[in-house]
Amino acid sequence: MAEGEADAASGGVLYVQKGPATLTEMSGQEVEAALARTRLILLPVGATEAHGPHLPLGTDTMEAREICRRVALRMEAEGRPVVIGPVIPFGTSSFHLGFAGTVSISSRTLIALITEIAASLHQSGFRDFVLVHGHDGNLPSMMVAAQEIVDALPEARAVVLNWLAPLSRVYHTIQRSTKGEGHGGEGETSRLLVTHPELVHPERGPAHHLPPEVMRRIQGPEHVKTGGGIFYATRRYRDHTPWGHIGDPAMALPETGERGYDVIVDWIASVLARDFFAA
Ligand SMILES: [Zn+2]
Repeated sequence: MAEGEADAASGGVLYVQKGPATLTEMSGQEVEAALARTRLILLPVGATEAHGPHLPLGTDTMEAREICRRVALRMEAEGRPVVIGPVIPFGTSSFHLGFAGTVSISSRTLIALITEIAASLHQSGFRDFVLVHGHDGNLPSMMVAAQEIVDALPEARAVVLNWLAPLSRVYHTIQRSTKGEGHGGEGETSRLLVTHPELVHPERGPAHHLPPEVMRRIQGPEHVKTGGGIFYATRRYRDHTPWGHIGDPAMALPETGERGYDVIVDWIASVLARDFFAA
């Protein structure tokens, strides 16, 4: 069987993950060597939640990892080394629980998870904790965790980077769709096409759009948790979409995903250079 035909049932290769390694793939000695060059660690905070029939449940986890992977490569090229922490695969996904396979942990659990991971890494010698989400529902908990990290750990600095805010400002210049693309829509499907094309099946996800006045409260630019100043708590996605996604997966292209990642990485790298590496 060719690699491309492998699926979950076959036990074949599903996809290939490109480096650099996260903490999960490093030895303790490798981390020690990295600590001689940097005290900054990126913490990718993903989710396991439904994204429609065309995307895997780990979409947000994969995106968070890919963002951190690209940021690490960029920072290294600029002479500003960083380490990528373990990818947290669960988040607060209560509003996606109406779909099979979704796993949600409470805000309290997520806050505890992030702060206890940071406390361990602090003992190793890390001092700068950069929290990068793959799922915007995690943002409120990530902010609380960042404050608790700074409160509890001497010399620690912590920041939460919501890349959806800068991306949403330019998204109309890189997407093809003129309708409201949201969760599992053109943008997210495009980003997954870049890294995990074997796991993306756009033909399985029909176009599904919401009226603008509803979309505004779910993922509009004045919301996007909360790059625009408004925070709308979310109820059930199932009430808005029978599929789990919002948007048109058929509009997705790997080039769109690449451009999206460029915007995200440019922004994160510039913030880190300015706030953590400036003399
Ligand atoms: Zn997602």
